[in-house]
Amino acid sequence: MIIKGEQNGDPTRTGFAVGKANLPPKREVCTRGANDNKRRANLLDSHCHLYNSQYDTDREEVISDIFASGIEKVICVGADIESSKSARDLAESHDSIYYTIGVHPDDCDSYDENVIENMIRESSNKLVAIGEIGLDYFHNKDNKSKQIEVFISQINLAIKYKLPIVIHCREAYGDTLDILKRFAPLAVPIVFHCYSGSLEYSRELLRLGIKMSFTGNVTFKNAKNIQEVASNLPLDSFFFETDSPYMSPVPHRGERNTPKYVWDVARFVADLRGISADELIKITDENAKHFFKF
Ligand SMILES: [Zn+2]
Repeated sequence: MIIKGEQNGDPTRTGFAVGKANLPPKREVCTRGANDNKRRANLLDSHCHLYNSQYDTDREEVISDIFASGIEKVICVGADIESSKSARDLAESHDSIYYTIGVHPDDCDSYDENVIENMIRESSNKLVAIGEIGLDYFHNKDNKSKQIEVFISQINLAIKYKLPIVIHCREAYGDTLDILKRFAPLAVPIVFHCYSGSLEYSRELLRLGIKMSFTGNVTFKNAKNIQEVASNLPLDSFFFETDSPYMSPVPHRGERNTPKYVWDVARFVADLRGISADELIKITDENAKHFFKF
């Protein structure tokens, strides 16, 4: 079980006051080029779950549609042993799909280090990271020590095989940071996916050299804390994702999400920052490619 369309963060932990003064002046939503995605090359979706059963009836159509919209690459993220295998199968059968292997904290009871290590050993060059791994005390806080043990085991595997790490963190900010600090200086790149923490916390991550990725929840009307982070982070420290089929961005809320909606996430953040979407996408895509080394 992975996140079920809920905000993947701790809404009670904003950690800073959100005031109008902290946000850039509001601008009209950027629609330039909205129907011309093909021309604007190189946007990628760094986190989605295309193996999800929500795509069972039309997966190949969805995939064709993603690349027809001008998306260059997508990373299909594993969340347990089975879904990591499904992500690998999708990556093996589609040129522009890459994958990760990992066991999400919600599934920590099913973790088997030997199985995961064998999957990494037998992987192809389409494997780009270990993830999503981490801690989730929103869904379960009765098994913290098991979650921590599984998280640390997978961090060690990522370091052993020199693979970047994709982190899931929900209502577990303190423990996650404490664990990551134990590994500092970090031997492999790390990204906090679906970043929903505070500005203050993002600065702690930056000090460790950790990147963040933003998804559809940054576009939500009540997500002022995430918007403040997205407005303030250095340009070289973040990139974009959809977390499809969850987290559909405005104006697609309520619909099944698809990686092609990463355009909406990127355009929203560009607008927040008062820069052109083309310019921002060029930078964030370089960030993601550098991070995942492809
Ligand atoms: Zn995910």
